[in-house]
Amino acid sequence: MKAIRVHEFGGPEVLKLEEVPTPKPSSGQVLVRIHAAGVNPYETYMRAGTYALKPPLPYTPGSDGAGVVQAVGEGVKNVQPNDRVYTGRTLSGSYAEYALALEEQIHPLPAKIDFKQGAGIWVPYGTAYHALHHSAKAHASETVLVHGASGGVGIAAVQIARAMGLTVFGTAGTPKGLEIAKREGAHQVFDHRKSGYQEQILHATGDRGVDIILEMLANVNLAHDTMLLARNGRVIVIGSRGEVTINARELMGRRASIRGFTLWGITPEEEADIHAGIFAGLENGTLRPVVGKELPLAEASRAHKDIFEPGSAGKIVLIC
Ligand code: NAP
Repeated sequence: MKAIRVHEFGGPEVLKLEEVPTPKPSSGQVLVRIHAAGVNPYETYMRAGTYALKPPLPYTPGSDGAGVVQAVGEGVKNVQPNDRVYTGRTLSGSYAEYALALEEQIHPLPAKIDFKQGAGIWVPYGTAYHALHHSAKAHASETVLVHGASGGVGIAAVQIARAMGLTVFGTAGTPKGLEIAKREGAHQVFDHRKSGYQEQILHATGDRGVDIILEMLANVNLAHDTMLLARNGRVIVIGSRGEVTINARELMGRRASIRGFTLWGITPEEEADIHAGIFAGLENGTLRPVVGKELPLAEASRAHKDIFEPGSAGKIVLIC
């Protein structure tokens, strides 16, 4: 089979398309014919060797993919060959024609969701669902600011928060991104590249502030976020690419909090809850993964460059 392999940590050019043996499922494992793989920012940090998790070399990147079950190992009960599925992590990497996964890492893909959309489920929707439900403990009467609403996690968060009944504000940096955030459910959108947009957000709350901020770029925004919060407000730090200085006094009067977040820290109970919630949302149409760009598997290195370009408009997916 064809797979992307990383033999050394480094820039996007270390992603090489190679011919490798197709894995065989052992007991409790499932082999999936991956039709599309989702590209997430963490895969670029991992490839660069700067991420908290360093896989042994060589490895195939990717946790998110969608396709059809090819074969199952002994003892696999809930999945059969020809089932349409998405992966929430894999054993062998999703940037490949086939991926090996544990049975519990395989989840049913509703008929109305195509494989390209299915490639954009696990990390974006898992993150958004976990952040809103478990981390922020969001309520329908609250207002959430999705700070970075045009990318994978942001669009998922807008859709989930809207379905939960919250008042949803979203930001993006281009007219296209703003349009997508609005189309996917944000009640109001703001351009995070325009000076003074934070004052517009505050004004839109009647100067009360927002209850929740889902922050995609804390190193840029956190200091200002603390001034946008309502009483008992909370910032969930999902993404951050550097250091930041804040004034803790902004939190004190508001009794506000900043909460660190990682999808890798979920408990098995939370994971089951997340997949149940995602499946229901995909099936009832409230969750609709948005594909912004499709590239062939061979162009994985381009995908790793493009994901850092401004002007997000949904997921980048690799066609395998
Ligand atoms: P993505 O698809 O590349 O989207 C990036 C988003 O950040 C876009 O909406 C982009 O908007 C926005 N952005 C750019 N400049 C911004 C600014 N100054 N203020 C606010 N937003 C800004 O990435 P993603 O998959 O959504 O992930 C977002 C971040 O969360 C990444 O840093 C990722 O590593 C992190 N993440 C963390 C976890 C975790 O477990 N902690 C899980 C998933 C993701 P424009 O392009 O429109 O400017």
